[in-house]
Amino acid sequence: MIFVTGGAGFIGSNFILDWLALGDEPVLNLDKLTYAGNLNNLARLKDDPRHLFVQGDIGNRALVARLLEQHRPRALLHFAAESHVDRSIDAPDDFIATNINGTFALLEAARAYWQGLAGARQSAFRFLHVSTDEVYGTLGPGDPAFTERTAYAPNSPYAASKAAADHLVRACHHTYGLPTLTSNCSNNYGPCQFPEKLIPLMIANALAGKPLPVYGDGQQVRDWLYVGDHCAALRRILDAGRPGEVYNVGGHNEMKNIDVIHALCDLLDTAAPRAASAASYRSQIVHVADRPGHDRRYAVDAGKLQRELGWAPAASFASGIANTVRWYLEQRAWAADIASGAYRNGHPHAGAAP
Ligand code: NAD
Repeated sequence: MIFVTGGAGFIGSNFILDWLALGDEPVLNLDKLTYAGNLNNLARLKDDPRHLFVQGDIGNRALVARLLEQHRPRALLHFAAESHVDRSIDAPDDFIATNINGTFALLEAARAYWQGLAGARQSAFRFLHVSTDEVYGTLGPGDPAFTERTAYAPNSPYAASKAAADHLVRACHHTYGLPTLTSNCSNNYGPCQFPEKLIPLMIANALAGKPLPVYGDGQQVRDWLYVGDHCAALRRILDAGRPGEVYNVGGHNEMKNIDVIHALCDLLDTAAPRAASAASYRSQIVHVADRPGHDRRYAVDAGKLQRELGWAPAASFASGIANTVRWYLEQRAWAADIASGAYRNGHPHAGAAP
């Protein structure tokens, strides 16, 4: 069994669905079901005995310790986090509580469990911490991409809280020997992403006839990776990563925000055209005041992961984004449940899984 935290969120749910599609090893999923946790993402598994869901907080060390002792997983994959930069600017407290203190509590429980294991089970145990490229700060136009050696320079409360978590994970390996792995990944997109993030927000607003808000000049550059490729990278790191190591994960796919939005509008113009006489969805774009402290450019060098573990992204941006738009168009009920708040009732909506 593997133990996943935050498995009802965007990446965690994609990871669990892929994991159980590829094999039969059961998953214990601990998720607090914050606003970002959505059991509809896992609807396909609602009668699947290989998925064990527990609603709870990673900061509850006694609960985590009990789950570890009861289920005796061979690995723990830590996705749970507060993940939205804008929310971290408006109200950072939850980011400190979950991303820093929660990760610390999880590490302490995992360390005690791991220290109690013996022999091969102990040496095989892994703690995989899922983190972000945002810990490295921002790049100028000609700067080389982030490598695992780039100095940390987080600029938002979200990035700072993830940086702190990364340091705690590192320290737990160096001080106590816990076999940790850390991945720092670029921007993900794909099915089941909460519609506050750029791509699902733009799709939802476009279809609802609402403005498409672009921060500042829209020239901010991000590296975009299809979520399925991130999940494949995590499986590879779990299988073959060296304990104590950090692996950058990225799509080698730098794009300006405005170009991503244009690509979405163009796909929607074809797949879900506005009224016959109406202009493109691009006409709904409005520029709004930039996010405070907005990082200008992220770019990730994933060469270490490629060289050492043989991982490379499979999806091109063109195929990944077309798949993503198709999914959101087909899963209107998934989005409607979020818009109405019904998703918080925890009743999986049949057919919503990718
Ligand atoms: P998300 O916000 O969609 O999901 C987070 C999940 O964690 C939710 O299900 C939520 O209920 C759960 N959670 C939050 N606080 C919790 C707590 N205290 N205890 C238990 N569960 C809790 O996030 P995501 O986009 O899926 O990101 C997953 C991880 O990947 C995060 O650690 C994030 O920092 C990292 N990451 C995300 C991206 C991206 O582009 N989305 C890129 C790189 C790294």
